[in-house]
Amino acid sequence: PSLSEDTASVRATNDDAQISKMACVRLKYFQDDYIRHFVKRHLKRSPLINRGYYSRIAALRQLLRGFLQTPDIIGPRQVLSLGAGFDTIFFQLQANGCAPNLYVELDFPEVTSRKAAIVASEPNLQRCIPRSDDDVLDTEGGRIITKPYCLLPVDLRQPAAMEAALKLAKLQHDVPTYIIAECVLVYMRPAESNTVVRWLAEHLQQAAFVLYEQIKPHDAFGQQMMTNLQSRGCPLLGIYGTPDLQAHEQRFVQNGWHTACARDMNAIYNKHTDPEDRQRIERLEMLDEFEEWTLIQGHYCIVIATKDSQQRLHQIVDL
Ligand code: SAM
Repeated sequence: PSLSEDTASVRATNDDAQISKMACVRLKYFQDDYIRHFVKRHLKRSPLINRGYYSRIAALRQLLRGFLQTPDIIGPRQVLSLGAGFDTIFFQLQANGCAPNLYVELDFPEVTSRKAAIVASEPNLQRCIPRSDDDVLDTEGGRIITKPYCLLPVDLRQPAAMEAALKLAKLQHDVPTYIIAECVLVYMRPAESNTVVRWLAEHLQQAAFVLYEQIKPHDAFGQQMMTNLQSRGCPLLGIYGTPDLQAHEQRFVQNGWHTACARDMNAIYNKHTDPEDRQRIERLEMLDEFEEWTLIQGHYCIVIATKDSQQRLHQIVDL
């Protein structure tokens, strides 16, 4: 299939993710003062799904904080979010005074133009972007280009387009960079996502790549997960290339990264969320399907790869 094949259902996974995050925010699993601008339909999710989203968000936030707040990195830092969708992390960081020097978000043009239009119409979001005279806020073209924040339309399956976008954003190749891909690469074919992974290793001198996505398509639960997504028109094209933790680690190492470590969400939930906060959220909703909880969490993972000649990043952003 060509690059122009219909990607509407893959783009729709963004709305789905934000609806789920909004459901968690309403129940106070975690705070996000900006997501309400991006979600039109409010739906309830099951306690299992809510707790899964909590573990994903809490762990990813903790890892990013590690990178942004460590005194071991001196000087500027950048974040690159691949397939960012309507993610609100930039706005939260800015409001908390801990945004990096540059935050770049890439997604399909249809997604970035909707996001740019929402940003343009919401003073609450606009306030989070420090502006100067040569800024671009082009809602139709789905582009926001400012010094600390860039949102750009890119089909990640086109490496030249990604390269051009990063140039426009003025992403520096020698500045420590944190890359996040949250449920994104798995929607691409292995050869396509490997190209992205390799390109970033080749071009960035000091970087950590943090990936969150599904694994284990082969067991009964995995097959059910695959059928479900297939029937919604967004098959996980990448999952057979990286079906388990070992394959994820190998993919990074074989594509230019120095270290790679993958853990499933059962391991992450206990190690990378705050114990007090975990106790708090476990009281929010009754959940007695512990077997199912463990089964689901075993089908999601976080992978962290680093490229860093001084070998410091893998201690800072560590699983
Ligand atoms: N990362 C966001 C989050 O976790 O809230 C959104 C996740 S959503 C499940 C997947 C996102 O990846 C969608 O916004 C989709 O448009 C984007 N995406 C998938 N394939 C892409 C590609 N080839 N190029 C650009 N964006 C892509």
